[in-house]
Amino acid sequence: MNTYTYFAERFLKTPSKVFLESDSGENFSYVHVERETARYANFLIGLGLKTGDRVAVQVEKSPQTVFLYLACLRAGLCYLPLNNAYQQGEIRYFLGDAEPAIAICSSQNLDWFSTLCDEAKVPHCFTLDENAAGSFGDAARASSTEFTTVNSKPDDLAVIIYTSGTTGRSKGAMVTHGNLTSNAQVLRDAWQITSDDVLIHALPIFHIHGLFVALNTTLLSGAKMIFQRKFDANTILAALPRATMLMGVPTFYTRLLSTPAFTRETCQSMRLFVCGSAPLLLDTFNEFRERTGHTILERYGMSEAGMVCSNPYVGERRGGTVGKPLPGVTLRIDGGDTGGIEIKGANVFSGYWRMPEKTAEEFTADGYFKTGDVGTVDRDGYVAIVGRAKDLIISGGFNVYPKEIELLIDAIPGVAESAVIGLPHPDFGEAVTVVIVRAKNGSALTEAAVVAKVKTELANFKVPKHVYFVDELPRNTMGKVQKNILRQRFGS
Ligand code: AMP
Repeated sequence: MNTYTYFAERFLKTPSKVFLESDSGENFSYVHVERETARYANFLIGLGLKTGDRVAVQVEKSPQTVFLYLACLRAGLCYLPLNNAYQQGEIRYFLGDAEPAIAICSSQNLDWFSTLCDEAKVPHCFTLDENAAGSFGDAARASSTEFTTVNSKPDDLAVIIYTSGTTGRSKGAMVTHGNLTSNAQVLRDAWQITSDDVLIHALPIFHIHGLFVALNTTLLSGAKMIFQRKFDANTILAALPRATMLMGVPTFYTRLLSTPAFTRETCQSMRLFVCGSAPLLLDTFNEFRERTGHTILERYGMSEAGMVCSNPYVGERRGGTVGKPLPGVTLRIDGGDTGGIEIKGANVFSGYWRMPEKTAEEFTADGYFKTGDVGTVDRDGYVAIVGRAKDLIISGGFNVYPKEIELLIDAIPGVAESAVIGLPHPDFGEAVTVVIVRAKNGSALTEAAVVAKVKTELANFKVPKHVYFVDELPRNTMGKVQKNILRQRFGS
């Protein structure tokens, strides 16, 4: 079934209920969702887009972005969200690789974005801003507010989410309608979300956490969202007395805890705080419980598989663990007590976009997806993530793959080689750090020059917070750089 139909069958039982309250206090009901998504879907189909065509979107978070996502689902198109921090180097690659039929950006980026669209021969380029301003909003305004949702099958492509690759090449994870509907239902049931819930939505919506976990469970439950453009501890504080749920990354929780006005009293109407996308420190987990009386529910997932594990809603939420595999997910550890986490289930994606060999490599012969995370399972079945085989850095909840930054830095004149590592950081979780060996002609190379180069090419969260220069990188007998030694040396 089409994901939208699956949600609408439930939320249209209470059509006048508010789905989304915006930052400016504007309310959008479920009828509004139905009409606006129809308008956008009609417009996209009117442009000649066909089932499975990619719709690349790099816009600010707004209610209209949500409608665009749902319109793509309704029309059988493939939604392709792009982090709005991405710069030209990244967008050029995504447009070339995904070959979208249409690309939509913020008005402020139109100059360079449309040039890249021309280069990649993208047939249509539009802008979409807050309050449906921009050429897409303008052009779609005259379209009909009635649309017959396409009858998609569970295996049909719904969304492509790009995850950076360890080899430097990003991979587009192909997520199907079946993945979305099954995961939304499992989470709604596991976390007991109902139409009485009011979720504070302060996550970005180009990533699975804000897009799938938060939005899809709200739609499926016919619940309400207080929709905040970005995370701000004080804005959250102001919304808390009217809310029942918050979904966040660990940084949300450390920042709330460093706000003195965040107290047990401010959380009185809340029933659930969910955390994920990066490891939650045990200290934060404990401090949160002491301060508020609430126990954060930590869960674990990824673009390729939606949500995989969750601590229980009823029962012990164990700090330092991500809980147990969700219903329908089979999880095993490769190679003994501690090893690679492998999973199977209706939540697992259908493969990487146009990368059949890479897809085959990431699955075992008996059909398990190799997550790349290293974990253990305790006697009671609780899973703990102990490391990341993929060498991923998570800074402020965003994934950073060292290879991409290393390739860029290695190409700077004066650099012989570099190694990018994550070092513990009290606010971001991990701070991107680069260790550089200067080339013979590199004596004039400065930290500022390295940072400036990365800033022009890559998103801000990938820009190194520290740059160190060394005479040589430590390597093992296989010639691999020993990043653990670098982490020890510079981490202290
Ligand atoms: P993404 O595809 O951007 O959602 O990133 C997925 C990766 O984030 C996973 O493979 C894990 O490495 C990491 N991750 C997600 N949730 C958690 C968690 N609760 N604890 C530790 N790592 C996590």
